[in-house]
Amino acid sequence: ERRNPGEAEFHQAVREVLECLGPVLAKYPEYADQKIIERICEPERQLIFRVPWQDDRGVVQIARGFRVGFNSALGPYKGGLRFHPSVYLGIIKFLGFEQIFKNALTGLPIGGAKGGSDFDPKGRSDSEIMRFCQSFMTTLCHYLGEYTDVPAGDIGVGAREIGYLFGQYKRITNRYESGVLTGKSPEWGGALVRREATGYGTVYFVEEMLKSRGDSIEGKRCTVSGSGNVAIYAIEKLQQLGAKVIACSDSNGIIHDPRGIDLTLLKQLKEVERRRISDYTAHRDASYVQGGVIWDIPCDVALPCATQNELDETSAKTLVRNGCVAVGEGANMPTTPGGVRTFIGAGIAYGPGKAANAGGVATSALEMQQNASRDAWTFEHTERRLHEIMKNIHQDCFETAKEFGSPGNYLIGANIVGFRRVAQAMLAFGII
Ligand code: NDP
Repeated sequence: ERRNPGEAEFHQAVREVLECLGPVLAKYPEYADQKIIERICEPERQLIFRVPWQDDRGVVQIARGFRVGFNSALGPYKGGLRFHPSVYLGIIKFLGFEQIFKNALTGLPIGGAKGGSDFDPKGRSDSEIMRFCQSFMTTLCHYLGEYTDVPAGDIGVGAREIGYLFGQYKRITNRYESGVLTGKSPEWGGALVRREATGYGTVYFVEEMLKSRGDSIEGKRCTVSGSGNVAIYAIEKLQQLGAKVIACSDSNGIIHDPRGIDLTLLKQLKEVERRRISDYTAHRDASYVQGGVIWDIPCDVALPCATQNELDETSAKTLVRNGCVAVGEGANMPTTPGGVRTFIGAGIAYGPGKAANAGGVATSALEMQQNASRDAWTFEHTERRLHEIMKNIHQDCFETAKEFGSPGNYLIGANIVGFRRVAQAMLAFGII
């Protein structure tokens, strides 16, 4: 903490991983001898840069850009870009740190990174978004490459932003380097299923957790926080598997629709018209609660899919008391440490983000494969691979938790599997 002052989220993410590693360090003393922990906690490189741009009134605006290449032991840096006013170095570092282990869990050759900006895209016009993305990429392009660093989307960055970023990269570098960004539109090199992948993958992970307990998703009442990319496709897959999603949210409030969320309406509002969920009730008989806590609504399965620390200990206790049997983290670190302790203590199926939401980055790695082979795969092909990857991640976490004496504890399983893969590669490379 002395070395990285004021980076609360980064400290939280590191502490969570380190608390799980005792048994693995005891088994492999070479990790301590070679200072693997100290090395893994220090990013390989960090870039902070000025992003000047002009708004529609001609006023000059200055944002701050970030890209942290955390670890490239297993492959080129890989991780999304977040555009949100809350972004600062501590957020990017927590996300980049998590990404190392998540990417290792996929079993695919990708290192860990994250980036973004404190730019607030809310209420900005298309041309403002374009000018911002162009300015952001004008600096960042010197540090990217399909074998070096491959960004993707995250909060505030979807296919539209990736399009503007890719266009500027192509223009400056004079290269049609498809594999330099993922989350591209399928019309020009993107993988079908990438848009759906994080949400679908989270639900597949929850399905596997429930299966291992002789249960299933069918018929479950679910609540999903957020109403962005991850939340929408988690809702879609839950509904396909026969669950009923009764609530979703955004940073202003909650939609509670006991008959089940109308996904066509939600997509129309969020993806087509880029509006707020408060408009949902103008079209359908449901309630909108401004500023409420979604976890107060009784459910069987809860999927936090909005942002970090959105589910605290009090909410975790409420969920457990109301009979919730499974929690799958679509978002990164959405549950506070006290919340995590509550879930694990209560023995419910708890899928930590770095395992449960790894389907997004896994499908990004498939997009890189597709680009490298200059091919275009079908939706069914890529979804089948995503499903297999999520089953494998579940199996690896499940078995490793058992191996290290904590059966059913996916937090321990995920952290050990991810850490061990990265540590082995780092040892092989010597002191670098
Ligand atoms: P989007 O920008 O598409 O959606 C984010 C959603 O979360 C919105 O509904 C937003 O509401 C809400 N939200 C964001 N910040 C806050 C906040 N501070 N308080 C309350 N609500 C908030 O992002 P994604 O769906 O892509 O990302 C959601 C989460 O999933 C993030 O934690 C991200 O890191 C994680 N994730 C995303 C992946 C991806 O493939 N996209 C991959 C793996 C993880 P509002 O509109 O009001 O801001």
